[in-house]
Amino acid sequence: MNHQPFEVWMFADQALTFEQKRQLQAHLRICSQCAALAEVSLALHSAKVVAPASGFADRFQVRLAAQRKTQRQRNFWGFLILVLSGLGVLLWLTWPVLGMVVNSPAKILSAWLSFLLAFWFSIQALAEAGTVLWRVMPALIPPHIWALITFVFTGWSLLWVLSIWKFARIPQGV
Ligand SMILES: [Zn+2]
Repeated sequence: MNHQPFEVWMFADQALTFEQKRQLQAHLRICSQCAALAEVSLALHSAKVVAPASGFADRFQVRLAAQRKTQRQRNFWGFLILVLSGLGVLLWLTWPVLGMVVNSPAKILSAWLSFLLAFWFSIQALAEAGTVLWRVMPALIPPHIWALITFVFTGWSLLWVLSIWKFARIPQGV
């Protein structure tokens, strides 16, 4: 029996014409060998149907990547706009100072340095005074003042606790 061109047709990628299909079906009915081949071909074709799924998955991945890229770009532009507008506001606020700096940089720098030095020295002086005061204070303040301070502090704490207790009680009373 001549199995051609049916073997070729069964494994052909292009679709068969109506006449070719009719002839193939007729041959398959009488030829068990080609019928077996047809089953293989069918299996192969259904495997080929699965194949585009990976292509689809690839396309999906590509689309997802593109979306992510767009999102990143959007985030980037949003961030850039935020930073630029922030800088603009900052520039607008500091423009007079900036103008002064541009006009006389050395003067501003020296003024800033002297300010920093003065700030540093005053902090040092304050810290020194604080430590001295902390050491000297107990001896300077008479005992009855201490008693008064303790009394006021205790009374204040008591009032505070009472007010908290009162506020805590209100929801339960109602
Ligand atoms: Zn055959």
